[in-house]
Amino acid sequence: MYQLSRSIYRELAPEIIEERVAAIAGSNHERVLRACEAAVYRLATDRHYFAKPSKTLFREIRIYFPISAQDHVFRVVDRYMRFARQWFEAQTLQGHDLAGNRLECRATTRKGTPCQRVPLPQNGYCPSHQHLADDFDMAGQVAA
Ligand SMILES: [Zn+2]
Repeated sequence: MYQLSRSIYRELAPEIIEERVAAIAGSNHERVLRACEAAVYRLATDRHYFAKPSKTLFREIRIYFPISAQDHVFRVVDRYMRFARQWFEAQTLQGHDLAGNRLECRATTRKGTPCQRVPLPQNGYCPSHQHLADDFDMAGQVAA
């Protein structure tokens, strides 16, 4: 997981703007690396509620790059975030996320308790709650 955020950082590092004044709370390089780590961690553990990983990470780090590098930065971020999502989807088939938490269906049962069946990797709902996943996607499109 950390290798992944390191790779994003390494590919972007040459283009990060250097501060003119010595930074008090960490350098731009540190901030970019931390943002990459946070985004990858969130993808690993909270992927279903992380709607636009590429755009979110890009928005967070773009101020540390010159205008001329923005296209490249977005392409790098997008490539890694897509890769990470696919990779994490493949990893969570065993019923646990990468932090070791047991995965459970996101739905609530009619009794009001959380559904504890094992979810499908592509949307986090168990087979009996797949209709909720469709509703969620439609809501997402309206909001986008
Ligand atoms: Zn369920």
